[in-house]
This record gives sequence, C-alpha cells and structure tokens, in this order.
Amino acid sequence: MKKIVLVDDKESIGKIVGLYLSKEYEYTYFDNPLKVIHWLQEGNMPDLIISDIRMPDMKGDELLHYLKSNIIFKQIPVVMLSSEDSTSERIRLLEEGAEDYIVKPFNPLELKIRIKKIIN
Ligand SMILES: [Mg+2]
Repeated sequence: MKKIVLVDDKESIGKIVGLYLSKEYEYTYFDNPLKVIHWLQEGNMPDLIISDIRMPDMKGDELLHYLKSNIIFKQIPVVMLSSEDSTSERIRLLEEGAEDYIVKPFNPLELKIRIKKIIN
C-alpha cells in the first residue's frame, strides 16, 4: 500500500480526504507541517504529500521549499491545496517543484484521480 500524507490545519479536511483515500492508501494526517518534518526525520518516507498553503506555524510553501531543498525528501511528489485560485501563486509553486495545485473547495474524487496519476 502506498503512503500518502496530508497536512492541513483544518482537521475536517483531513477527515474528508481520509474517507476517500484510506481504503487504497496508507493515509496519515497532520495538522501542522512541523509535525510532518519531524515524522520524515524519524525515517518515514511517504509516496506523496498533500499540503495546504495557509497554515499558522509554517506555510505550505515553506514546507515545499524545505522538501525540495533536501537531497532525500526532494523526490517526494507534493500536491498543494490553495484557498485561492491565483495564477501567480500556482506558477510560483509549480516552479518551486510542486507536482500539482488544487484550489479549495475541491472535489475529493478529483484529488484522488490526480493522486493516482502521479503515483500509480
Ligand atoms: Mg489552512
């Protein structure tokens, strides 16, 4: 089973996405990017990370930058979740190494299909 991590400060998003993904994937939810980094540093290696952008302690783009600057973690595909459909933000994040960019509110089924295209 492939491993997917979602980080979003809204627990409801974590639960909804979990309903759609946890049958086919090993799904782990975090409410804070710092916890994701800690989890990775412990030796965990997911097949994909889905990250919200606007979060209090660390922004999703900072997490993306951290991952893409790391020799080991940079291979993990990252899908960004944005609360605004901003072309400049999308371009910046795709350029920074994000695999995909999805605007909230999103259809979880669409997220699932996009994920499948990236990791299967
Ligand atoms: Mg948020």
